[in-house]
Amino acid sequence: MTEIANTEIQLLKEIEQLRSELAAAHRTKAVRTAELFNSEERFALAMRGASDGLWDWDLETDEVYYSPRWKSMLGYGEHELENNLSTWASMVHIDDKDFVLKDVQKFLSGEVDTFEVEMRMRHKAGHDVFIRSRAFKVSRGENNETVRLVGTHVDITRQKKAELFDKRNAKILEMIAKGKPAPEIYNEIALMYEERHSGLRCSMLELEGSKLLHGGAPSLPKAYCEAVHGLENGPEVGSCGTSSYTGKRVLVKNIETDPKWVDLKHVALPYGMRSCWSEPIKNSSGKVLGAFGMYHNYPTLPNEEESNDLTSAAQLACIVMERDQNQKRIRDLAYTDKLTNLSSRTHFYLNIEKLVKTSARDKNKFGLLYIDLDNFKNVNDSLGHDVGDILLMRVAQRLKRACREIDYIARLSGDEFCIAVNNVMDDYGAAQVAQRCLELISKPVELAGRKFTPACSIGIAHYPDDGIDLKTILKAADTALYAAKDLGKNRYAFYKKELTEKAEYRFKIEQYLREAIEKQQLSLVYQPKVDINSGSIIGVEALCRWHHPLLGQVSPVDFIAMAEQIGMIKPLTEWILKTACNQSTLWNEAGFSSIRMAVNISPSHFLDSDLVPLIKRVIKDSGIMPNELELEVTEGGVHTNQENLAIFEHLKELGVLLAIDDFGVGYSSFASLKHLNVDFLKIDKYFIDDMLVDHKAKLLVGSMIEMGHNLGHKVTAEGIEKEEQFCMLQELGCDTAQGYLFSKPVSANQVSKLLGRNFTC
Ligand code: C2E
Ligand code: CA
Ligand code: CA
Repeated sequence: MTEIANTEIQLLKEIEQLRSELAAAHRTKAVRTAELFNSEERFALAMRGASDGLWDWDLETDEVYYSPRWKSMLGYGEHELENNLSTWASMVHIDDKDFVLKDVQKFLSGEVDTFEVEMRMRHKAGHDVFIRSRAFKVSRGENNETVRLVGTHVDITRQKKAELFDKRNAKILEMIAKGKPAPEIYNEIALMYEERHSGLRCSMLELEGSKLLHGGAPSLPKAYCEAVHGLENGPEVGSCGTSSYTGKRVLVKNIETDPKWVDLKHVALPYGMRSCWSEPIKNSSGKVLGAFGMYHNYPTLPNEEESNDLTSAAQLACIVMERDQNQKRIRDLAYTDKLTNLSSRTHFYLNIEKLVKTSARDKNKFGLLYIDLDNFKNVNDSLGHDVGDILLMRVAQRLKRACREIDYIARLSGDEFCIAVNNVMDDYGAAQVAQRCLELISKPVELAGRKFTPACSIGIAHYPDDGIDLKTILKAADTALYAAKDLGKNRYAFYKKELTEKAEYRFKIEQYLREAIEKQQLSLVYQPKVDINSGSIIGVEALCRWHHPLLGQVSPVDFIAMAEQIGMIKPLTEWILKTACNQSTLWNEAGFSSIRMAVNISPSHFLDSDLVPLIKRVIKDSGIMPNELELEVTEGGVHTNQENLAIFEHLKELGVLLAIDDFGVGYSSFASLKHLNVDFLKIDKYFIDDMLVDHKAKLLVGSMIEMGHNLGHKVTAEGIEKEEQFCMLQELGCDTAQGYLFSKPVSANQVSKLLGRNFTC
């Protein structure tokens, strides 16, 4: 470095000397040319052998002379670059160009006396070279006008890199001191060494037991990191797997041919990795914590500097890894309940506090279950604490099974457990989990050779309804727990009493609904659809009815929604479709031909991949003509995403008719029409109700009919109760009508009687 600096100083002195000679030369025009020529000659001679590049910019012609050294510094031969300013402009780093040009301007205008800048220039091989550029003015004439700028380039890359390395090193130490997360620091360490050695890529792997876990590798492809994550280390598992196994440095010059990489090279070679050197990361007592890996895109072994860096990189990573692993261990000790492996009370409280914050931010509701084993004391007293412990472990396993992935379980103390039921839509989400807990916990267990049936009581509270911070929600859940015990144990209770009854009623109905098909409590009724022009019945809509011996008649609005929630909608729809299509064939056989059978399909089922095969099967089994089956789906089911459009297309290919039900009340009505190939729009009763009294409603209905027709759809109006509505719809050109005016939904037998009737306005 000093050697270069000395040459530079020497050179600058000579240039300064030349500058004054040049200035003197300008004094007399006559001698100028000869003297200038000589000076330039000497200048050039002075430069020869120096390690600096020379540039000479003629401001009048804009020609720039670049010396051979100037060019070779950037990897170019003597004749590879043109002698003009754009050569420089195309090679200077884009972020540095502006300030360099500004400094040149300042220097030329006399605002500053000296010119010295540091900038990055692109080497022919693609990397950046740090350059220090200095310049001197060459003036001429009586006005001392600047005609040329002459300057030098010094390559200061090494010095710059050393400075950057020091800075990064300091930053990493600061990150360690401030306790930043380990993965962030690993990435910084990798980037620091990568910046120092062009083309290098680094990785850090942590060793957990005998498994290698991804620590940090910001420049390696994700797919490679994922492939390595979780690998068992061993005597021949790549470079890092081997070095973490043997505790020794492993240098692999060529991944392609090295036997240690036989099983792994297929994930490395496609990403260009050709050589890999690995240093085990060992703590102060010599235990291997992981491995530091350095990769190159060509077969090579480390030089002395790289070899030293491999050692220091592993040492630096060790500081972070050791600290991180200690912290994890402490956290695990404090945060896990040793007996059950569930979260500890401390951890649970911390998490609930976090959950309160995120739920407040996202406006989410969550439920808290406070669970207490019934009569646990008896087990402890009669069978001993060891048996009690076994029961607690079993209970913990069962609670885990009762929860979803996103729920969170902890053991608070003794026989008390808590579950946070995350992101619940209504009050029943938490009750469902509670119900499952009750069911699973009350399964018999064998303890000390004796069969035992455990039981628990559960209190349920909700954020934010029953409390908006940890303390109040816990208190509410605890109060509810006592209510559950009072109710007779082995049950749950809500903090709000009325919810307990409601939830129980609901679960009872759910249970009943599951049995409804089997117990033949379901039936279909059919509501005629009338062709407005001919007045005859051209089809029916099948509507489902449920009569339960205790509950009586349950509204389809309620039980269909419930069936969707409890995953019953598929078997239910299957039953409805089969029954309706069989009925259609029966009518056909009885001589009532071409009665279109409309069946409602709930939106959630409509999007299911099972629907198309189901329809196909039902058509085949029942013998219904596909064009006599109409599927009604509400707008909720017709978002125009790709998947949805495909279902419409598949159904159309089967030849069935499609109708958009409750048209006009959803948000997507018109937007969806543009893409969907449907046969009918079924205008919602809401508009028909208002038609007679509200002029605007009538206008709307008229427009919907017209628009439907223009887009090639037929239009049905539903909920017609009055003669006047019927007449008005006829006037507006509507195609089909349905409503109590013609008939309420009735049994299949009654439909047969209606079929001959004619309805005219
Ligand atoms: P929806 O598909 O819009 O069915 C029309 C509802 O309006 C039926 O009620 C029908 O009885 C009633 N309705 C028809 N004309 C009139 C009228 O002039 N005045 C009045 N006030 N009401 C009329 P329902 O049968 O109670 O069905 C209600 C909803 O339950 C249906 O609305 C549909 O969304 C659902 N649903 C019924 N059966 C099924 C089914 O089999 N599958 C599915 N997925 N949903 C069904
Ligand atoms: Ca319908
Ligand atoms: Ca409807």
